[in-house]
Amino acid sequence: MTRIYNTQPPGNVLVSAEDVAKTFPSADGGSLDVLDGVNLSIREGEVVALLGRSGSGKSTLLRILAGLIPPSSGDVRYGGVPIEEAAPAVAMVFQSFALMPWLSVVENVELGLRASGVPRRERRRRALEAIDQIGLDGFEAAYPRELSGGMAQRVGFARAFVQRPDLLLMDEPFSALDALTGENLRSELMSVWQERELAGQSICIVTHSIEEAVQLADRVLILGGTPGAIQAEIPIHIPRPRDKRSPTFEAAVD
Ligand code: ADP
Ligand code: MG
Repeated sequence: MTRIYNTQPPGNVLVSAEDVAKTFPSADGGSLDVLDGVNLSIREGEVVALLGRSGSGKSTLLRILAGLIPPSSGDVRYGGVPIEEAAPAVAMVFQSFALMPWLSVVENVELGLRASGVPRRERRRRALEAIDQIGLDGFEAAYPRELSGGMAQRVGFARAFVQRPDLLLMDEPFSALDALTGENLRSELMSVWQERELAGQSICIVTHSIEEAVQLADRVLILGGTPGAIQAEIPIHIPRPRDKRSPTFEAAVD
């Protein structure tokens, strides 16, 4: 029996980058063209992996999609609305964890909710729930310096998950961890995603690992060139574990 898997992207376009370019001032007083002519879109519920060499502009592109830095030219739109007006719910997980060293684990996770106006008691409740889900139960009062890399990145994930963002951006979230820790955290996260039904959420993950990209993503984008642009786009057809919850095959023929 041959199964024909549904390769249609899951929903409407959530975010699009149109002809995005980014130029930074360089140390010698000149300028560095990092991105030019970047076009991409991510649909609701879609998991996209972004691959590219070191220095190809992956982190820069994620920051632009998150609205942390503006593009030099081009547009970023959420649901067709320019990012400045759309105020999208976007959370980011950083390679280097980016925890506040003077705040405890629970306070770091709560930070994710500060800007969104969630009342204090509700913030604490949701933060504790996220900490529990990510396997950090008992470490609520610990400080970042007391945590291993793997645990620190769990805090990074909890801080992002607690926001229940429409788009979760992850910038090489496992690459600062040793191979075994990274592998363990990745497979644990895949089950957390399934349990929490985060499959409805859009994810863009930057990675160096082709294996990770194929395992996690619906579609792989390759960023390359100088300045960087999307060089290739690879749909992934193989069924992934999260498909077990909601089968995506649309036809089965003998
Ligand atoms: P990647 O994440 O793919 O390794 P980055 O987006 O971090 O690449 O960086 C792409 C290029 O842009 C690099 O040459 C980097 O040095 C440069 N760059 C990144 N951020 C800045 C900045 N704020 N100012 C100047 N140059 C930057
Ligand atoms: Mg980077």
